[in-house]
Amino acid sequence: MSNIAIVGAGLMGRLLALLLSKQDEGIIEQISLFEKNSLLSANSTGLIAAGMVAPTAESITASEHIMLMGQRSLKLWPELLTCLAIDNAWWQLGSIAVAHPKDHSSLVHFKQRLKLQKYALNEHAASVEVNHARLTDLEPELASRFQYGLLLPDEGHVDNCALYQQSAQLIKDSDINLYEHLNVELKDNSVALPNGDLITFDWVIDCRGLGASRQLLQPQALLRGVRGEVVRVRAPQVKLLRPIRVMHPRYPIYIVPKGNDEYVIGATEIESDSEQAISVRSALELLSAAYSIHSGFAEAEIMAIQTGLRPTFSDNEPVISVNNQVIQVNGLYRHGYLLTPYLLEQMLLLLRSFNLVKQVPWSVVTNSNNCLDERLINFYNQGKTVCE
Ligand SMILES: Cc1cc2nc3c(=O)[nH]c(=O)nc-3n(C[C@H](O)[C@H](O)[C@H](O)COP(=O)(O)OP(=O)(O)OC[C@H]3O[C@@H](n4cnc5c(N)ncnc54)[C@H](O)[C@@H]3O)c2cc1C
Repeated sequence: MSNIAIVGAGLMGRLLALLLSKQDEGIIEQISLFEKNSLLSANSTGLIAAGMVAPTAESITASEHIMLMGQRSLKLWPELLTCLAIDNAWWQLGSIAVAHPKDHSSLVHFKQRLKLQKYALNEHAASVEVNHARLTDLEPELASRFQYGLLLPDEGHVDNCALYQQSAQLIKDSDINLYEHLNVELKDNSVALPNGDLITFDWVIDCRGLGASRQLLQPQALLRGVRGEVVRVRAPQVKLLRPIRVMHPRYPIYIVPKGNDEYVIGATEIESDSEQAISVRSALELLSAAYSIHSGFAEAEIMAIQTGLRPTFSDNEPVISVNNQVIQVNGLYRHGYLLTPYLLEQMLLLLRSFNLVKQVPWSVVTNSNNCLDERLINFYNQGKTVCE
C-alpha cells in the first residue's frame, strides 16, 4: 500500500488526485494534495484560461505530436468528466474563424496552413468553409458583419469555472488529505513544509506548473512563463453558441461563450513572466475585437480582467519526467485543456507500470508497440524505458 503526494492542485494536479482517489483496488493507501493557494483561487492559471480544446486551430503553430495528443483529448474529455461525476462542463459544437475585410488575407492564410497540416486533412480534424447562408444558420448574430467563415467542426471547450468548482467540492468530499495555502518544496520523495518539517511519501507527483521551475528533474531544462491576458464579460445582448476566432494581424483573438451570457475574450501571448495587470494596448485590442464582431459587447459588463503565466519549456512541449520516486508533469504551455486528458491517461498507464494503479477507467489507445508515449515520458536514474 502506497502513500502518494500530489503537489499543486491546478488543472493537472486536481484531476489526477480525483482520478487516483477513484481507484478502489487497495494499492494506494492515502493521497495527500498540497496547494499553495486555495482550490478556487482567482489567480489559478487554469481558471483564468479560456478552456479551448482546439487541436485544429492550434495545428498552425504547434507540433504534430501536440495535435495527436489533442485529438485524443477531444475524445477523452467527456469520458473523463463522466468518470469524475463533473456535470455541464463540456461543449463540443465546433468553433468558427472569421475575418474583417481588411484581415481577409489572414483567414486565407489560416485556411491554407490548415490544409498543409496532414492531421487537418483527416476526418477528425477537418475545416469546412461556410457561406453566408450556413453562417446564418450556425451563428445568426454573426451574419450581419461577416459574409463567410471557416468552421472547425470538432473543436470543444471546457467550462473551467464549473470544472474548478465541482472538482474542488469533490476533493473536499473525498478522502484525499487536502493541504491548502501551503507553499511547499520537494526534497526527493519528501515534501518540505514552510516550517521546515519533512513528510516522506512512497511517491511524489509534482504538478506545480511554474512553481517547479527551480526544481526540475530534467537536467538543464528551462521553464519560463508566457504571459496571457483575458477579459471576462457578461453580455446579455450577445447570443453566440460557439467559440469565435477573429483573425488579427498580431494574434488570433477568440471569444468563448461560457454560459449565462458570459464570454471570455482572449488571449494575448507575450514572452514575459510579468504578472502585472493588463496593458492598455492589450485591453483595447481584446475589447475592440469583441465589439467588432458584435455590437452587443458595447453594453457588456466587465467581470474580470486577468493575467496568467503559462508554464512553458524551451520547445513549448509538455514533459512527464520520472526520477526514482518522483514524477513531474509540466510544460503544459497554452495547451493545458488541450492535453490534460491525454496526459492523465499517460499518467495512469505509467502508474500502472509501477503497480500503483490496476486499470484505466476507459479503453486505452497506445501506440503500435503498446508502449507509453516515449516522446512525452523521460526516465532519469532508473534504467527504465517507456516500453517496460
Ligand atoms: C490567458 C490564458 C489562456 C489560456 N487558454 C487556454 C486554452 O484556451 N486552452 C488550453 O488548452 N490552455 C489554455 N491555457 C493554458 C492552461 O491554463 C495551462 O496550460 C494550465 O493551467 C497548466 O496546468 P498545470 O496544472 O500544469 O499548472 P497550473 O494550472 O498553473 O497549476 C499549478 C498549481 O500548483 C500550485 N503551486 C505552485 N507552486 C506551488 C508550491 N510551491 N506549493 C504548492 N502548490 C504550488 C499553483 O498554485 C497551481 O495551483 C491558458 C492560459 C492562460 C494564462
